[in-house]
Amino acid sequence: MGSVTLSQPEVATDSLGFFRWGRVAGQVLLTNDAGDWAFLSEAEFNDLLAGRVTEGHPRFEEFQGKGFLRDGLDLDALATRVSLRNRHVRRGPHVHVVTLTLRRGEASNGQSVEPFETDMTTETAEKIVCLALDGMSPAMTFELQGQGGEPLLNFEVLRHLVEFAQSHNKQTTGKNLRFILLSNFTAMTEEAAEWLIANDVLVSTILDGPAEVHDANRKHLGGSAHADVVRWIDYFARRYAALGRDPKQWYVDARMIATRQTLEAGPRVVDEYVGRGLPTIQFTALDRFVVGADTWAKLGYTVTEYLDFYRRMLDYILDLNRRGVELTERLASIVATKILTSDDPGIVDIQSPYGAGSGQIAYNVDGRVFPCDEARVVDALGDPIFELGRIENMNTLGVVRHPTVRAIAAASLLDSQPMCTDCWNKPYCGFSPVRSFVAQGDLFGQRPHCFECKEHMAVSTRLFELLADENDSEAKGILTRWSVARSPHAFDTRATRETF
Ligand code: SF4
Repeated sequence: MGSVTLSQPEVATDSLGFFRWGRVAGQVLLTNDAGDWAFLSEAEFNDLLAGRVTEGHPRFEEFQGKGFLRDGLDLDALATRVSLRNRHVRRGPHVHVVTLTLRRGEASNGQSVEPFETDMTTETAEKIVCLALDGMSPAMTFELQGQGGEPLLNFEVLRHLVEFAQSHNKQTTGKNLRFILLSNFTAMTEEAAEWLIANDVLVSTILDGPAEVHDANRKHLGGSAHADVVRWIDYFARRYAALGRDPKQWYVDARMIATRQTLEAGPRVVDEYVGRGLPTIQFTALDRFVVGADTWAKLGYTVTEYLDFYRRMLDYILDLNRRGVELTERLASIVATKILTSDDPGIVDIQSPYGAGSGQIAYNVDGRVFPCDEARVVDALGDPIFELGRIENMNTLGVVRHPTVRAIAAASLLDSQPMCTDCWNKPYCGFSPVRSFVAQGDLFGQRPHCFECKEHMAVSTRLFELLADENDSEAKGILTRWSVARSPHAFDTRATRETF
């Protein structure tokens, strides 16, 4: 058996600040807890480790400013940047996901096709509003959805919740409120649409791609036909334009769930978004634990297949941008914001610790409270393990301090996770212990078996590859544009992986 001789690098520990490192695009990438980063050649890295980057070295000031060197380290400035990057831990619950009905509804005339004893009541909706507004965050988002279906089937309560929140907020806390309806449009009517527009309720839907992909997917996953979805996307676009609203701020936000058909369709999915004039696209992988084994056997794929698809689509979208088409990929824009700005976009499921209970709270139709919508889905699938209690017995502090919320926070703290603690991607990453629980049987899980670990690493790696290419300033310009663009739809939470 042969042997390998390893040489130990020369390391001047006393001269180095704290950083993590890895190899990307043939260079050494350094990152730190403030999200600062730098690419180094192998020679520069060896010089840094050996303490040879001192005053007079061409990169001394850059490394000093980023806190990679101890010499002249501005600890206060570094602490401020770390604090800014982690400000989500002080924000409190600000995303409230309200499931208004368990009815799915397939009719397009606004009429239910299922019997219902499964709608939220106005009393429960009011209690949710009171709990939410009691929180310390100055801005609140209410995401209004139906479980695997259509919240408009409980339109009276939806309307009451919005109106009650607006008037209660005016009389009491004066917070900045935002309402987002997640609808599959099966029960949309012109009357409902006009009320949503008049009350500034943002609208989000699912568009899986062109008709043949969307309709093939929805046959298995439930939800609406392509023709209905695009009709309502066009309707809202027309009405917003007629009212003179900014098209970059006011549009129907669409997201897609990738199935095997989606992977085969490739760029045609993106072209559908461009053709509809949509400014953003969000790729979401199918969740095998939500759809079940039979559907997964028909529609599923390997992680490698999905990430290969994602990378091809991201490059395709960047090429479109180079040709003047303004289309943003949501996950890439979230990660780009983390990499290219000192801010953190505050997405509760891509942060450390994960924001279940501390950033997001979810409410079931019957008034039971969960730390996040994924936890509510776990309950819907038959396991109530994440239930925190009933709305009438809870307040915000009780949620944040709940042992289940604390356990989720402890499990998702990347600083204490094996692999994550040494990973260069740690400042830009996060994972869901609820998903680890479902997929691996415990909150902590193991990163090599974690889909988000692979997904986030793939996205960050691709973005850093683009940033490392000094001949491609255009790509950096596009990513910078994505990182500063803000729409009212953007950035508090990614889509639930439950299909609707
Ligand atoms: S989850 Fe994976 S990519 Fe993210 S910090 Fe941990 S090891 Fe790195």
